[in-house]
Amino acid sequence: MTRKVLLVLGDQLTRQVGPLSTAQPDDFDVLMIESRGILEALPHHAQKLTLVLSAMRHFARELEQDGFHVSYVRHDHPEVAAFASGVAWYAKTFAPSSLHLMTPNDHGVLEPIEAACQSMGLDLHVHPNDLWVTPNDLFDQWREGRKTLRLEYFYREARRATGILMEDDGTPAGGQWNYDAENRASPDLSLTPPEVPTFEPDPITSEVQDEIRAHFPHVWGDLEPFGWPVTRKDALATLDAFLRDRFQNFGTYQDAIVIGETTLWHSTLSVPLNLGLLHPREVLDAAVSHAESVRGTPDEIPINSLEGFVRQILGWREFMHHVYRTDGAALREANVLEAHAPVPPAFWEAATSLNCLSTTVDQLKRTGYTHHIQRLMILGNIAQLLGVHPKALLEWFTATHVDALDWVMVPNVMAMSQYADGGMLTSKPYAAGANYIHRMSNACASCRFNPKVREGDDACPITDWYWAFIDKHQDRFASNQRMRMIVSSWRKRDSEGKARVASRSASSMESLQSGQL
Ligand code: FAD
Repeated sequence: MTRKVLLVLGDQLTRQVGPLSTAQPDDFDVLMIESRGILEALPHHAQKLTLVLSAMRHFARELEQDGFHVSYVRHDHPEVAAFASGVAWYAKTFAPSSLHLMTPNDHGVLEPIEAACQSMGLDLHVHPNDLWVTPNDLFDQWREGRKTLRLEYFYREARRATGILMEDDGTPAGGQWNYDAENRASPDLSLTPPEVPTFEPDPITSEVQDEIRAHFPHVWGDLEPFGWPVTRKDALATLDAFLRDRFQNFGTYQDAIVIGETTLWHSTLSVPLNLGLLHPREVLDAAVSHAESVRGTPDEIPINSLEGFVRQILGWREFMHHVYRTDGAALREANVLEAHAPVPPAFWEAATSLNCLSTTVDQLKRTGYTHHIQRLMILGNIAQLLGVHPKALLEWFTATHVDALDWVMVPNVMAMSQYADGGMLTSKPYAAGANYIHRMSNACASCRFNPKVREGDDACPITDWYWAFIDKHQDRFASNQRMRMIVSSWRKRDSEGKARVASRSASSMESLQSGQL
């Protein structure tokens, strides 16, 4: 008897929603494909490959234990290099009656599968993607007619639609929609965040690590120690530990960086969320109910942490997903600031005297993870000031971070971090000089450069780069309400001072690009 087959993608490892939430082993066979094309396309972080392959293999094993027949196509399959050839191979080998699939999150995944089904005469059924909290309609209606898309206003719609952190009378819990102003404390070095749980490689993960050593010599970053969650059980343990140990301080120190503290008070939940091991709705519900359960105790979760966390998941994560869905193709090509420089070698090798950059890249190499402010204030900011081509930076971020997927990278890198869209998503570029990095981190204290010094060998080049960036784009930024003041203060500088900034910044940029800074 011919059978229906369900193709499960590596970022849809869920039985909570979609076809597998209700399916019995008799309903579908399952097909999973490790796409060699994707794995080899970039010098991916070794732990990113380990994470994705191990999580897929664990998921396949769990389905088999539940009685499903799983055809699991490994990356070294002789006839399969990508999803399309995998589908063709499966159709030829098993002659299924139809292929089923949950709508992929990323662009460019569905089309080759459709083409393969067509050429094999196989019916394709694309199921809705229920890995999100907010429906497409909610965003699409809100988006209609808008030229600028601001998180804050979509976030309010999402709060109203879901009832999360809402009072019965339709007002926001706590009286305010947003406690962003209380998310910006400088780091408190007297506080040490508890360790994030790590998970020892089991035989499945160890086998993947051996294969990466043997088959993927061009990976980047350290393969070991590996401790990321690869099963739903690990994912739930990561969530529990965050709620218990780091949620309380999450909001206050959300914008801070402490050298040596990889995660600080952040959750690392992007890793299991992006694989599908956790559903964002369950994370939101767990956060809200944890906050309720500890109210009035010493473990109470302050509103700036609770709302701040909800804003990340229900706000930013959902918002970026929808923006990618509707505007991702244009965003991927955007480059209004006409930035064309390459990604500097210090982003790969960590060999630079800029302590903020070298420590961040070193951490990234060891773990495959940087937290949001490291991504925004250090990596993204420096790349933007240097004029790195946004698409080159997109590739670099995609290769180097364990939680990188196209849907989340495109809007975050191109719009939030590089302003390549000219302000469709953000009201001003996220650009900062050394003083701001000094205020929000302890990186400058042990750096060879001094953020307070303006001229001479000790002056931090990042401040020169910042002013050179303002100079270069002053005509564009002069008409931006939030940038006008900074442009006018730059314009008031005397021409000799401006010329010195231009010359120093050109020379230090060249040094960084040639690995000499
Ligand atoms: P937390 O600070 O604990 O936040 C909780 C959750 O909120 C995250 O797990 C994530 O799911 C969600 N979230 C917060 N901000 C965003 C955002 N801007 N977009 C989408 N989700 C958000 N996120 C990724 O998941 N993958 C990426 O590859 C990625 N690349 C980024 C690149 C740049 C340049 C920037 C500026 C941001 C990027 N982000 C990315 C968004 C954000 O930085 C990460 O989601 C976050 O740092 C992950 O760490 P965490 O789980 O500890 O986050």
